[in-house]
Amino acid sequence: MYPKEYFLERFKTEETEELLHRYAATDLADEAKEAIRSLLQSRGVDDSILQPLVIQARKAAYRQTKGTTECDFCGSSARFSAVLDEGQRFCSKSCLRSARLLEASEDIPKEAIFQHACRIKEGPCPSCQRTLTRIEVRPYYRVWSVGLFTQWTKRTHICCLSCGRKTNLESLIFSVVLGWWGIPWGLIITPGQIIANITEMLRSRGDSEPSAELIQAARLDLAARRYKERALQSNG
Ligand SMILES: [Zn+2]
Ligand SMILES: [Zn+2]
Repeated sequence: MYPKEYFLERFKTEETEELLHRYAATDLADEAKEAIRSLLQSRGVDDSILQPLVIQARKAAYRQTKGTTECDFCGSSARFSAVLDEGQRFCSKSCLRSARLLEASEDIPKEAIFQHACRIKEGPCPSCQRTLTRIEVRPYYRVWSVGLFTQWTKRTHICCLSCGRKTNLESLIFSVVLGWWGIPWGLIITPGQIIANITEMLRSRGDSEPSAELIQAARLDLAARRYKERALQSNG
């Protein structure tokens, strides 16, 4: 790890706005964050105005476009059936919705999001309603092919361990039956999707803490609730 002095030296010539964008990024080392904070302080940006500026910078990041044919949210190809919104390109309405909700979620305190994730984790399974099960975000993998065309997906759902395993088994059977019939991708992708489902079925994931994916889901859920509440309020 580099000391704070290293980052002070490295960042000192950067513009204030650039520093704010850097600070708003979540994957910085503590030393780097501290260095940026002292640099900003020396330029008159103290802690009380820093936080709102950081939120602003994070929100702005959700409005950036790569300017390519890829989805500005998930990076999937969005060449043909793109959803265009305010200069950005998305592969689906759901990616557009997620980007806007995540932007709005920057106003929600981190603790509130974490608590909501814990509530989901300890609550009943959304699919089978059983309680005291290990709720998590669980992936499942499918592939199907016809001739030269092969489509493969990785999707996730929030459910208990046994519902997750059931979906993985269904997806495995789906892929075994429908995956192979495409050349060359059907033959290449199908074994991988089968193995991915089996690996997920064998994973038990008994942690009591919510995963990063579950925290992200909780963040989206809270933002959606807030959005609904506000819409109701403004309607009457
Ligand atoms: Zn997308
Ligand atoms: Zn369940």
